[in-house]
Amino acid sequence: MLNFSFSNSTRIHFGEGQTQIIAKEIPANARVLLAYGGGSIKSNGIYDEVIAGLGERFVVEFSGIEPNPSYDTLIKAVPLIKEHQLDYILAVGGGSVADGCKFISAAAFYEGDDPWDIIAKRAKITQALPIGVVLTLPATGSESNAGSVVTRHGHKGAFSHPLLQPQFAVLDPKVTLSLSDRQVGNGVVDAFVHTMEQYLTYGVNGKVQDRFSEGLLQTLIEDGPKALAAESKQDLEVRANIMWSATLALNGLIGAGVPQDWTTHMIGHELTAAHGIDHARTLSIVLPAVMKVRREVKREKLLQYAERVWQLKDGDDDSRIDRAIALTEEFFTTMGVPTRMSHVDLNSGHIDNLIANLTEHGMVKLGEQRAVTPEISRQILETAL
Ligand code: NAP
Ligand code: FE
Repeated sequence: MLNFSFSNSTRIHFGEGQTQIIAKEIPANARVLLAYGGGSIKSNGIYDEVIAGLGERFVVEFSGIEPNPSYDTLIKAVPLIKEHQLDYILAVGGGSVADGCKFISAAAFYEGDDPWDIIAKRAKITQALPIGVVLTLPATGSESNAGSVVTRHGHKGAFSHPLLQPQFAVLDPKVTLSLSDRQVGNGVVDAFVHTMEQYLTYGVNGKVQDRFSEGLLQTLIEDGPKALAAESKQDLEVRANIMWSATLALNGLIGAGVPQDWTTHMIGHELTAAHGIDHARTLSIVLPAVMKVRREVKREKLLQYAERVWQLKDGDDDSRIDRAIALTEEFFTTMGVPTRMSHVDLNSGHIDNLIANLTEHGMVKLGEQRAVTPEISRQILETAL
């Protein structure tokens, strides 16, 4: 195992009716920025629960944080924070709202000329507003990690800082019943790929981490399709399993002490930035191609994945790897997401631009061994056609 330091300070409040805990979690005298997206929280009743929980506190609302949140939207919250002397941010939504609030939190104290430098130039974050999250879409893990992804001028850039770790997160599986099939599928696939990025690497002893990861992958494979099937869509136990899996997939636990890949995410970010494809739908296109192109480097782990996650025990090594990759693609298809660039109307003519963008954004040594050059990223995209 590699050396590591692990802590996750986000207090998780899981289960039905837990939203009311915000009344205890947020200081009674807090001045709150209540941030959300395009309005789903108003149609499914969460907004009313949150308002009840906030009680008499001074609240300023900031709505309209879009999927793949943009700098231009988020930056509009900063003057509100200053004008009203707000000192707490409550994010109510999916990963985009949680991520967006992390950027707002850091930008509110940024003293340089351009807060985008937090992402573009890794400018130092020295202070941030505390954040709480009421999660409505299990997918990203953003509710209990310190990371965030924000887009500006075709650059989808990631950053993280311990000060941005949410103080608490409310996870009520009931809230996820209003998700569309598309968002359910996206969420399950994002969580699946987060797990794979930390699992499917190369031989460093991570027996404990591997077993956790395999448990998460199996849970998502078993319960993901149930959340789409008419007879089990309303099953709150299924929703609970998915919600907790998505949080555990990216809260730091399974990635501690083991190599991490993230090639799929970095290439996926370029597909979203250039072509507007949903985050998870870029991952389902790229991951199978990464498995194929990086097959030899990842051989040992692919065999472990085939045996332990898919119970493939017969046939020679290569046929088991082929089958495991095919079953991964079938699972993605069952979740309603694309597995080829052609499924989202992209072709070989789009690859040059994607590689140029990856290079411009410094994504030139990707993967657990930092061995994925732009040339290998090109092979991955060609394999994904
Ligand atoms: P999202 O972009 O937050 O939300 C997608 C859509 O789902 C929105 O239109 C939203 O509508 C709707 N929605 C959310 N909750 C709903 C509910 N309960 N009922 C009905 N509709 C609901 O999706 P996401 O997948 O969670 O977040 C994706 C973003 O997170 C991407 O930018 C991705 O790059 C990033 N990400 C971050 C991390 C991280 O660690 N920080 C990891 C992976 C990905 P409304 O706007 O109307 O609410
Ligand atoms: Fe992701």
